[in-house]
Amino acid sequence: MKAIAITPHEPNSARLVDVPEPQPTNDQVLVRMVRAGICGTDAEINAGAFGDAPPGFDYLILGHENFGQIERVGSRTARFQVGDYVVATVRRPCDCINCAAGESDMCLVDKFTERGIRRQHGFLAEYYADAEDFLVKIPPHLRAVAVLLEPYSIVAKGLWQAWKIQERMVWKPRTALVTGAGTIGLLAALALRARGLEVVICARSKPGTLNSQLAQEAGVTYVSLQDTPLENIPALMGDRVDVIFEATGHGPTALEALDLVTTNGVVLLNSVTSFSHPVTLDADKLNMRMVLNNILAVGIVNANRRYFEMGVRDFEHFQARFPGILERMFTRRVALAEFSTDLFHQRRGVKTTIEIHPE
Ligand code: BGC
Repeated sequence: MKAIAITPHEPNSARLVDVPEPQPTNDQVLVRMVRAGICGTDAEINAGAFGDAPPGFDYLILGHENFGQIERVGSRTARFQVGDYVVATVRRPCDCINCAAGESDMCLVDKFTERGIRRQHGFLAEYYADAEDFLVKIPPHLRAVAVLLEPYSIVAKGLWQAWKIQERMVWKPRTALVTGAGTIGLLAALALRARGLEVVICARSKPGTLNSQLAQEAGVTYVSLQDTPLENIPALMGDRVDVIFEATGHGPTALEALDLVTTNGVVLLNSVTSFSHPVTLDADKLNMRMVLNNILAVGIVNANRRYFEMGVRDFEHFQARFPGILERMFTRRVALAEFSTDLFHQRRGVKTTIEIHPE
């Protein structure tokens, strides 16, 4: 079958390859991929910044944002039928206590694997095989947007955990700032709006991009950092920023966010930043501010199936509340055979997908 593979740590090595079809065990199902999404993590893997091949392989099949359809069930599987639509989670557990409890996203010992990222082949291929525990059933009416579920699962995790941790006190959040207006930032803005918050989203581009339009149509205020520096945004929000959802992919902005959230607020750090941006900062001032204001910063990586299931419910709500917005996030569709690494260098629009078996 055809797949997109990289040679780990070799810059710009992503290419179309011919590989053997997966052979599912009796406990696995075979899934025919409909489409895969491309994200910043894939670009960083292609740049050689991280990514590891499975044991015994010198290549890694890329791809972790996925949507497919069950092609064949196993003799010892029970949950799915041929034709069901599914999205797979990314991380596969090790034997630590968190993984054993179904929380591989909170893996304690760094022995987990991640499909398409770390020691397990990904989903940028015609087919994949997996155990049904790692698959989430997608109602057919969400099939056009379901490839956004994996990136959304990180948002669902971040918000669920933030609200859970904030039970530490009486907390009635009113305002949220989302930094970064890529797919994750936009999805976070929708989710925060759906929770009833006033939401500001900021990004470098001047207003007028599709990203800014989608945000505005969802009732989110878009601010260009070319017009207003990040540090001045809280003033636009009445100096009250209860939640910051950081999704710029830029470490210095993530640090700056810690300085912008207001008393009792929470900063959700979501950017995977494998490059290097040293900064000078007044550590005592920042520390003092965080301490004296009970500020909480939480790192959020990956998501277990619970958050994918929450995401399915949230998407149903979004489809009613923000009709057409998820669909319009798909700005570039490329056939598997047309794949080229240019996709990683000309990142524009919102979501690029690789169409594998489009319907
Ligand atoms: C993926 C996560 C993964 C993380 C780090 C993200 O792009 O969505 O599932 O855990 O990269 O590898």
